[in-house]
Amino acid sequence: MAQIIDGKLISQQIKDELKEKVAELKANGKEICLAVIQVGNDPASTVYVGNKKKACEYIGIKSLAYEIPEETTEEELLGIIDKLNKDDSVHGILVQLPVPKHINEEKIINAISPSKDVDGFHPASVGALSIGQKGFVSCTPAGVIQLLKRSNIEISGKECVVIGRSNIVGKPMSMLLLRENGTVTICHSRTKDLKEVCKRADILVVAIGKPRMIDASYVKEGATVIDVGIHRDENNKLCGDVDYASVEPVAGAITPVPGGVGPMTIAMLMNNCVEAGLN
Ligand code: NDP
Repeated sequence: MAQIIDGKLISQQIKDELKEKVAELKANGKEICLAVIQVGNDPASTVYVGNKKKACEYIGIKSLAYEIPEETTEEELLGIIDKLNKDDSVHGILVQLPVPKHINEEKIINAISPSKDVDGFHPASVGALSIGQKGFVSCTPAGVIQLLKRSNIEISGKECVVIGRSNIVGKPMSMLLLRENGTVTICHSRTKDLKEVCKRADILVVAIGKPRMIDASYVKEGATVIDVGIHRDENNKLCGDVDYASVEPVAGAITPVPGGVGPMTIAMLMNNCVEAGLN
């Protein structure tokens, strides 16, 4: 039986630790503040933004909501970001992605000051991670590292295979595993013999974006399997990129979906906000 890595429990522990830190800061006269900008009213984005606000409330972080219309121009949005960059009472700035098509996402990400870039998407944050300097790290991969560490799973010296090379998950995940002294292989759609490469892994992180694609035939006996994927299946049930029923019997440890990586993303966002407030 695999060890089930409980992301719900671990994310709650992190949020409770942060709540204490935030209370301490408040007692010393510092209130941490996150500005969340949502352009338009895409229903999925509204849910994500709502969850972020709730987490802020729980931890004691002040959240400023900018819910601005779909028609907002790129210039107007850049103007809001500029104002928030200059506002010393705002510690973190987050623009909920995706933004409407008439706005250049890259320009928006680049406009956020790296010192307030709590999503960790700014090129300066990404660069800092790759050369081992201090900077904000993308929340989902940072959450995976916390899941491993807090479950006492050793990374150093281990064969780590990451499936996926996206800017928000696969690439930063690989850099973080490398920083923890893992021996890292990155797989993508052009990888030959994906199964063979995955079977080498002591730690297999799956961010492929394909529901239940990774079954037991990709997994070495006893490996740790981290499933980043989130999908709704044909019965509207949540599932990951890993076929849990097939993999759980062979894995040494595994994250479930839901309740694995998912809850860690917001917890790590909150962690980045607190760090931004301490800078
Ligand atoms: P992307 O679609 O951006 O990236 C998928 C990656 O998988 C790409 O690098 C792609 O390769 C690779 N890939 C696709 N098909 C194959 C294949 N057949 N064999 C090998 N590699 C393949 O996805 P994201 O990184 O944004 O997200 C991955 C998953 O994680 C999704 O299910 C998403 O919903 C979920 N997610 C969950 C989060 C959470 O909070 N839990 C946060 C973010 C994402 P190539 O580059 O060559 O195209």
